[in-house]
Amino acid sequence: MDDIFAPDRAVIIAGPCAVEDRDQVMEVARVVSGAGVKILRGGAYKPRTSPYTFQGLEEEGLKLLADAAEKYGLKIATEITDTENAEIVLRYVDIVQIGTRNMANFALLKKVGKLTSSDHRPVILKRGFSSTIEEWLLASEYITGAGNPNVILCERGIRTFETATRFTLDLSAVPVVKKLSSHPIIVDASHSTGNRDMVIPMSRAAIAAGADGIMVEVHPNPPKALCDGAQSLTPGQFLRLVEEVRPIAAAVGRSLG
Ligand code: PEP
Ligand code: MN
Repeated sequence: MDDIFAPDRAVIIAGPCAVEDRDQVMEVARVVSGAGVKILRGGAYKPRTSPYTFQGLEEEGLKLLADAAEKYGLKIATEITDTENAEIVLRYVDIVQIGTRNMANFALLKKVGKLTSSDHRPVILKRGFSSTIEEWLLASEYITGAGNPNVILCERGIRTFETATRFTLDLSAVPVVKKLSSHPIIVDASHSTGNRDMVIPMSRAAIAAGADGIMVEVHPNPPKALCDGAQSLTPGQFLRLVEEVRPIAAAVGRSLG
């Protein structure tokens, strides 16, 4: 994992919420790689709150992600939602994601830890939106305990009484985790805010607070997105984010990677 995270690097993971079709994923891959980003995210199996919304292209989505990643020389991060799709997702991805709704799915954590125990593929563990930092760190030990030490913790917002944002981004988790854990910590400014206009300021703040990276959603045409359009950056906004985060990263001794 040292080839991804380092104390002098701020990593950007960017891509659509969900893989929708070939043109969409190719266009996002072109934009993010053009900005110097190395890791493309995109969901193929989506853990949607409503069973009536788009659930993802499943293996077809993984193939599209792999094609885009190959064309643009990117690594792929995508979510495993279930013990049943773990093996199939692992055939395609470089970095695994476990979402907020599955942080406490200990059978899944153990299974992913075991399946990646030989190759130590990085696993992004998002914080449960109702979980304490202690519960989150303990959850990470199901993965490490199953044989994979390469966990990346991702703060993605927690549920509070506030309704102006989708969740409340707990940026103080960054220094707390830095103190208690040696895993890298990244911040998801998209799911936490739920609003594309807040993604750039909170991404800047995350890097200023000492995060090892950020994760953001980008879509070629957010109003048409099948999932999370309101929080998805346009390509133009994404390029602006990179330019605005770069000097903040430099100020805290990190280069964008
Ligand atoms: C995602 O990253 O697409 C996602 C569903 O995130 P979360 O688990 O944080 O809601
Ligand atoms: Mn999303």
